[in-house]
Amino acid sequence: MEQTVTIVVDNSANYAPQQTLKSKISCCGTGLHSGANVSMTLLPAPPNTGIVFRRTDADGNGLEIAAHVENVVDDRMCTTLGDGQGATIATVEHLMAALSGCGIDNLYVEVDGAELPIMDGSAAPFVFLIECAGIVEQDMPRRVIEILKPIRVEDEHRLAELSPGECFSVGFEIEFGSHAIGQQDMDVELVNGAFKGELSRARTFGFIEEVDQLRAAGLALGGSLDNAVVVSGDEVLNEDGLRYKDEFVRHKILDCVGDLYLAGAPIIGHFKASRSGHALNHTILRSMLADSESWRYTNVLRENDDLIEDFEEPLAVATA
Ligand SMILES: [Zn+2]
Repeated sequence: MEQTVTIVVDNSANYAPQQTLKSKISCCGTGLHSGANVSMTLLPAPPNTGIVFRRTDADGNGLEIAAHVENVVDDRMCTTLGDGQGATIATVEHLMAALSGCGIDNLYVEVDGAELPIMDGSAAPFVFLIECAGIVEQDMPRRVIEILKPIRVEDEHRLAELSPGECFSVGFEIEFGSHAIGQQDMDVELVNGAFKGELSRARTFGFIEEVDQLRAAGLALGGSLDNAVVVSGDEVLNEDGLRYKDEFVRHKILDCVGDLYLAGAPIIGHFKASRSGHALNHTILRSMLADSESWRYTNVLRENDDLIEDFEEPLAVATA
């Protein structure tokens, strides 16, 4: 069943409610770019909080920062949020994708370092954490961003477009010279648990030829075959191969889902992109938010119960 966009007339129980976690839950792991060990705790938050990150270590200075595109301070290789005073939280996009895909509106994310753990390079371990903690409905309708007219950002090589739609959907194409990737495209409607089944297990990827350059720039220090698909020339180096035949484009869509959740609310509309990355994803989001005629806040009717049922079967995940 597709979500139907409806203007709010009251707080009727037919509207999709906001959701948070039932209980807090933690994990630890390595930062992909910093290589540092970090622990992360997800905590339930009251209605209308949104997703809020907290740095709990001494260097983090108690930084509390909303997951919003206005707070993006770096988009080289990953999405980094900051408060403008120097403290930052990097690589938030895979957790943000899991929160979007699982319909979590309100959450505190505590982390004792400057980067979220990369886990296995996908969003599946975060979906698993969310399922373990459980999801609870809150007594407040969910507010979404309904796209009213197309917004497009493009250059010679890349394109990103947001346009009106009945639900949140993404169409994405990539093209790489490596035959391990080649040309891939996919269209997906993010409804009824599609995120978990179609996208959540797709891992981040990189090219072995670029590793030295990235490391010289202080990036990918924690990267390994345990948390990324590594491509060398036309070969995938991971012994077990790929999780999906087109894992690369699925991961690019996963990144989009995470980046677009930095709108501060779920988007109802279609996102179409060609060779987009974090920087362009943020640019189109800023363009959309700055154009008040291109969107409005609204509420959506409750979805059917497929999504909830989907969470009854825990996912087996090997974490790095
Ligand atoms: Zn990614």
